[in-house]
Amino acid sequence: MKPRIYSHLSEQHKDRPQAINITISILCPLYNEEEMVPVFLRRLVDLLEEIHKSFEVICINDGSTDKTLTALLVAKKEYPQLRIINLSRNFGKEAALSAGLDSSRGEVVIPIDADLQDPPELIKEMIEHWEAGYDVVLAKRVDRCTDSFLKRNTALLFYKIHNSISSTAIPENVGDYRLMSRKVVNTIKAMPENQRFMKGLFAWVGFKTAEVEYTRAARKSGKSKFNGWRLWNLALDGITSFSTLPIRIWLYLGIIISTLSLSYGFFIIFRTLILGVDVPGYASLLTSILFLGGIQLVGIGLIGEYIGRIYMESKARPLYIVEGEY
Ligand code: UDP
Ligand code: MG
Repeated sequence: MKPRIYSHLSEQHKDRPQAINITISILCPLYNEEEMVPVFLRRLVDLLEEIHKSFEVICINDGSTDKTLTALLVAKKEYPQLRIINLSRNFGKEAALSAGLDSSRGEVVIPIDADLQDPPELIKEMIEHWEAGYDVVLAKRVDRCTDSFLKRNTALLFYKIHNSISSTAIPENVGDYRLMSRKVVNTIKAMPENQRFMKGLFAWVGFKTAEVEYTRAARKSGKSKFNGWRLWNLALDGITSFSTLPIRIWLYLGIIISTLSLSYGFFIIFRTLILGVDVPGYASLLTSILFLGGIQLVGIGLIGEYIGRIYMESKARPLYIVEGEY
C-alpha cells in the first residue's frame, strides 16, 4: 500500500464513506503491546456487543518494534469492526490519538489504553450520559493506588502547577479515557496546532461535561511506556502549550532584582561616604554573581523552550505519517 500523509489539516477524510452509520468509535493507541492485543480486544468487543450499538475499534499501531501489528492483523480476522492504522514509526501517544481522531467516523469517540488500566465496562455508563445530553464524559480515577507513589505525587504537583498558571484548568486525575461527541471531535480536529497536549486540548474546548468515576487497575501485562523523562517532557509540553507565565515572569523578577540591587548600591555608596573604604565582601560578591548567572540561565532556557516550540510549529510538518490502513 502506498504511504499516505494525513494531518489534521488533511482534506482526504472528507471523501470517507460517511454513510456508514457508526455510533461508537473506540481509539486505541498501541506501542509494543503484543501480549495485550488478544486479551484487550476480547474484553472490549464483548462489552461493546452488549451495548447493542454499531461500533468500530480503531487500533493505531504507533511504530511498535514487537509483533503488535501481526497480533492486530490476526485479530482482524475475528473482529470485522477492527480497523488498523499503522504509523510509519513511533510518533508518541498524542500523535497516535490525533491519527485516531482524524479517521474516526462514530457519533461518539472514546480513546482507551490497551493495557486494560481503563476498564471498558465504563463505556456503558458513558454512553448513558451522552444519551442524556452530555458532549463530554470524563472518566475520573478516584483511586490511583496502582500507580507508584512517585507517579501519583508528581502528577498531583503537575495538575496544581498547571492549573494555577494556565487559563484552562485540566480536571485532576482524568486521563485521555473519556467520551467525546462528534461536535467535540470536529472542534479538536480543526485546531491547527502541531504541539498537541491532548488532555489540555480536550479540556480547552469545553462543552457540557459529565464525570464517571473508576478505580484505576494495574497494567495487565507489559510495562509502562512513560518513564520519568517522558513524563517530564509531557508536563513541559502541557505547561508551555497553555501558559506564557513562565516567560512573562522574568520581567517581574528582573524588575525586583534590579530594584534590590540598585538600593543595595545606594546603601554601599552611603556607607562608604560615612565609614570610608574597606574591601571585604568576596563571598557575598561571588554568591550574588553565581546566583544571578543561574537565574539568567534558567530564564534563557525557558525562553528557549518556547522558541523551540515556535520553531517546530512553524515547520508545519504533519503530526504523523500513516504507513497503511488494514
Ligand atoms: N502508547 C503509544 N505510544 C507511545 C507510548 C504509549 O501509543 O509512544 C500507548 C500504549 O501502548 C498504551 C497507552 O499509550 O496503550 C498508554 O501507555 P502506558 O500504559 O504506557 O501509560 P501509563 O498508563 O503508564 O501512563
Ligand atoms: Mg497504562
